[in-house]
Amino acid sequence: MSCATLIDGKACAAAVIREVSVEVKALKDVGIDPGLAVVLVGSDPASQVYVRNKVLRAEETGIHSFEHKLAADTSQTALLTLIERLNADPQVHGILVQLPLPGHIDENCILQAVDPLKDVDGFHSENVGGLSQGRNVLTPCTPAGCMRLLKETCGDLSGQHAVVIGRSNIVGKPMAALLLQANCSVTVVHSRSHNIRELCRQADIVIAAVGRPQMVDASWLKPGAVVIDVGINRIEQDGKSRLVGDVDFDSVQATASAITPVPGGVGPMTIAYLMKNTVTAAQLQYPAVRHAKPSMEIPA
Ligand code: NDP
Repeated sequence: MSCATLIDGKACAAAVIREVSVEVKALKDVGIDPGLAVVLVGSDPASQVYVRNKVLRAEETGIHSFEHKLAADTSQTALLTLIERLNADPQVHGILVQLPLPGHIDENCILQAVDPLKDVDGFHSENVGGLSQGRNVLTPCTPAGCMRLLKETCGDLSGQHAVVIGRSNIVGKPMAALLLQANCSVTVVHSRSHNIRELCRQADIVIAAVGRPQMVDASWLKPGAVVIDVGINRIEQDGKSRLVGDVDFDSVQATASAITPVPGGVGPMTIAYLMKNTVTAAQLQYPAVRHAKPSMEIPA
């Protein structure tokens, strides 16, 4: 029985972090000290862990981090005022607002308030539009990380048929746009799609971004398919709690040619690409480094 190659997200993320550290040093050499502001509203335990990890990773790469922890009852106006301040702060090159926000705050209004050049999550409509036009803009971190894993695993993706399960603004849609940019034929399926399993069985690449534990098993895959499992789900098993993906890892091992584990697959890449986006944002904001990055799309 053949066994799928494990796509090692931890190792790949470590390589990205090394690249970022080199770029941070190059920026510091020309007097630019890259800074990332992380804004957390409320005390959701999972969000607190994510923010802590992001700050630690920033420190590891030499990126200066600014933590803004606000009370759960912070008003939308107060949050907008902080965003405006961060937009204007020359020490801050990237702004990340940890989601989800409390229910009384309009998430979209906040995301649109972030300067698109500091939008390290790639959620501002200017960056979303740029991505769908195939321009080189700040791109959501999770799909960007998935693309890196795919390119390292498969090389050139031209002509591959990719099926993306899920159409969220954070993962599914930008993932589809990036795959299209890489010359894949892309099918996006979601909760209203028919015959999802049959569609997946035609895919060379399956990206699962659903939020349903172990939904995709071997019967969903063409032999040799490459599987990227974005899902992070906590389940109870044998009286213990553990993390699983949207893919039934044990079931697909003999059918897939390569697969990301959960944990240790896409998760570490998301944080690594947040650091990469912070460096890219800093490079975009300084004319002096424009020439060092001729491939970047620079606004007038
Ligand atoms: P959302 O809940 O925003 O989107 C889920 C998508 O899955 C929706 O498009 C939904 O369809 C679709 N869907 C739900 N049920 C089904 C079904 N039975 N069949 C087919 N499609 C279905 O989730 P996210 O995109 O934010 O996240 C997806 C998963 O990825 C989650 O487990 C999340 O925790 C994880 N995640 C992991 C990250 C990482 O760093 N590894 C980062 C971000 C997310 P519809 O649009 O019709 O409702």
